[in-house]
Amino acid sequence: SEVCVIIGASHAAAQLSASLRTEGWEGEILVIGDEAYLPYHRPPLSKTFLSGEKTIEQIQIRPAAFYEKQNIQFKLNTRVEAIDREKKSLTLNTGETIQYSKLALCTGSRPRILPLEGSQLPGVHYLRAASDIEGIQSNIASGKKAVIVGGGYIGLETAAVLRTLGLEVTILEMMDRVLQRVTAPEISAFYHRIHTEEGVTIKTGTAIKAIEGNGKVESVILDDQSRLEADLVIIGAGIVPNVELAEKAGLEVDNGILVNELATTSDSDIVAAGDCTNFPNPLFNKRMRLESVPNAMEQSRSAAASICGKEKVYAAQPWFWSDQYDMKLQIAGLSEGYEQVVIRGDYEQGRSFVAWYLKAGKVLAADCVNRGKEFMTAKKLIQSGVTVDASKLADDAIDPKELLQ
Ligand code: FAD
Repeated sequence: SEVCVIIGASHAAAQLSASLRTEGWEGEILVIGDEAYLPYHRPPLSKTFLSGEKTIEQIQIRPAAFYEKQNIQFKLNTRVEAIDREKKSLTLNTGETIQYSKLALCTGSRPRILPLEGSQLPGVHYLRAASDIEGIQSNIASGKKAVIVGGGYIGLETAAVLRTLGLEVTILEMMDRVLQRVTAPEISAFYHRIHTEEGVTIKTGTAIKAIEGNGKVESVILDDQSRLEADLVIIGAGIVPNVELAEKAGLEVDNGILVNELATTSDSDIVAAGDCTNFPNPLFNKRMRLESVPNAMEQSRSAAASICGKEKVYAAQPWFWSDQYDMKLQIAGLSEGYEQVVIRGDYEQGRSFVAWYLKAGKVLAADCVNRGKEFMTAKKLIQSGVTVDASKLADDAIDPKELLQ
């Protein structure tokens, strides 16, 4: 019978395998993943899983019984080493060979490794998989000194959790401000203030040069030669998409595995979805690579449809979220290319506000901190592409719903 093999066992794979059944795939489904667990939610890794509030079972995307019922098989702790597109076969690290009729690449991404002296020392951690968190957890205790390299969302979320657990936390950010790559200066200033208020030290414009220690981490050396004591170092310096498998198999790759709007690669029997892809978004008339759960899920629905011979175009507005302390940030749209930022609420003293990103009088994106209503409104404004009155966006006395009229 026909077999659809999915490589990678995370958000994209969980959705793709389920969608294959709803789209009518009657053949076998085999998911091969190199981690030890059934697909689990990755966002809690730097939030409630790191803090110990949730266990791995509690963050599973679907229970084992779901996959059994849908007849979705898993091979965990297993890596696919090579794809032979002519023979339609895969070589596994176990030496085994597996045949496929259709193939889905859901290989995701991995942390960017910093080539730092001392980064092999025990106590240096990256943050991508549940196993990384298990390593960090064995090394955290109140009063310990943590240095976090990278002031992106993951670094900031990790700082918030460790601080709440009573550690002394320092964030090192190479750029002039945290979140520089993804937000307006106002948002960076906001998070800088909040973390400072919570007792975290942030050093911007500061790069790490080396990690030192005798048998385990003891300190980090900064680019100005100064030294910071550290019991643990967590590196959050961005990610790189896992494209090597596809590349070796001769598939087209360019900052991600190239797919069309139906999530099909340059081989019509192979789809790809999630962090590992570079796809054309018809809403923006350009290609993009996104690193988010909603992206992995939506694109997987298109990929599953394509495998079943149907056409479901992936054209979605990106959205994202980040939880830090008592603040829920929800981001609608992509702010890239904005001309103006309009603020509603008090980002200088408060903990609830919206930053609207505008271009040519239209809303491109919005960062909403503890503002669920405005987030819903922002999604609609972005989707409809109407021209807005900036003074109304800024006016907290105006109900968000009215902004849609
Ligand atoms: P991944 O989740 O990267 O999974 C790919 C899997 O494939 C991995 O298990 C990998 O080991 C495996 N694999 C790769 N190659 C092979 C191979 N050859 N053989 C077998 N297995 C292989 N997104 C949000 O939207 N909101 C958030 O708040 C948020 N927070 C995050 C916090 C953290 C700490 C992290 C790490 C990510 C966060 N993200 C968040 C991003 C989100 O988790 C990713 O976008 C999402 O996991 C992408 O899913 P994916 O299935 O494409 O890939």
